[in-house]
Amino acid sequence: MNIVEIYRQFPTEESCIVHLEKVRWQGRPSCPYCKSENQTALPSEHRYHCNKCNTSYSVTVGTIFHKTHLDLQKWFLAISLVLNAKKGISARQLGRDIEVNKNTAWYMGMRIRRAMIEHGDLLRGIVEMDETYIGGKPRKGDPPRKPGRGTPKTPVVGMAERGGRIKTVVAGKKKGALSQKRLSAIVREHVDVRQAVLMTDEFSGYGGVSRFMEHHSVDHKKSYADGAVHTNTMESFWALLKRGIVGQYHKVSIRHLPKYIAEFCYRQNNRDSVDIFGLTLSNAVGGFNGQ
Ligand SMILES: [Zn+2]
Repeated sequence: MNIVEIYRQFPTEESCIVHLEKVRWQGRPSCPYCKSENQTALPSEHRYHCNKCNTSYSVTVGTIFHKTHLDLQKWFLAISLVLNAKKGISARQLGRDIEVNKNTAWYMGMRIRRAMIEHGDLLRGIVEMDETYIGGKPRKGDPPRKPGRGTPKTPVVGMAERGGRIKTVVAGKKKGALSQKRLSAIVREHVDVRQAVLMTDEFSGYGGVSRFMEHHSVDHKKSYADGAVHTNTMESFWALLKRGIVGQYHKVSIRHLPKYIAEFCYRQNNRDSVDIFGLTLSNAVGGFNGQ
């Protein structure tokens, strides 16, 4: 859904609320505090009074729109803009597009990304795995940089079903972040190890994987007759992610990095969805994990 369609389908605050109520409750409102379905509607305020726990609530309680002072239409437009921005969208640009200031746009973007965090099934089939390093701004409290070591970078591990879904893990900077033990644990957590076949490069961290699943690594010394062993899917994803992070989000701190990466994974994983906007609204009010 593009922004013209958002304007057309959700011209007023009321139309947005009615739609969110349908997505969240399917016609049966329930109290977000006590789950009771015994309520009295307060239609003029778009709220409900819970007759069990005596609180009042609206459809936005506990969602990414909770306590917002902005029109829901702006939120819907912002969601659409984020979903359509293949390389990401900066807070400055988002702010200009929906006429809010940059800080508000940044905050909205972070909330929208929370609705884009996936907890999908284990990856199957041919799964490529690769690691990359993403530069992050040092945070207050980070140890001072050693001379000559450049910007501290954060290792990120990604796994991609060939022709399918992608999952990523921000490995963190602690010692052993990319050790055999750690990478094996990441594989077990995200890949169906009894069924899938793993393709990696020759990095020694993947050395433990063949003990519990079929594993092939790219041998750069050989010229390949069989072109199946590669990690091109994962490498294309890193390229897109880095263009986005360098171009739009050049000051991503490590704390927020998982959310930015989740945004790119989400667009990639739902690229064939017929209604990614609807899916995201549904995550925003229901699948939202309440942080
Ligand atoms: Zn209640």
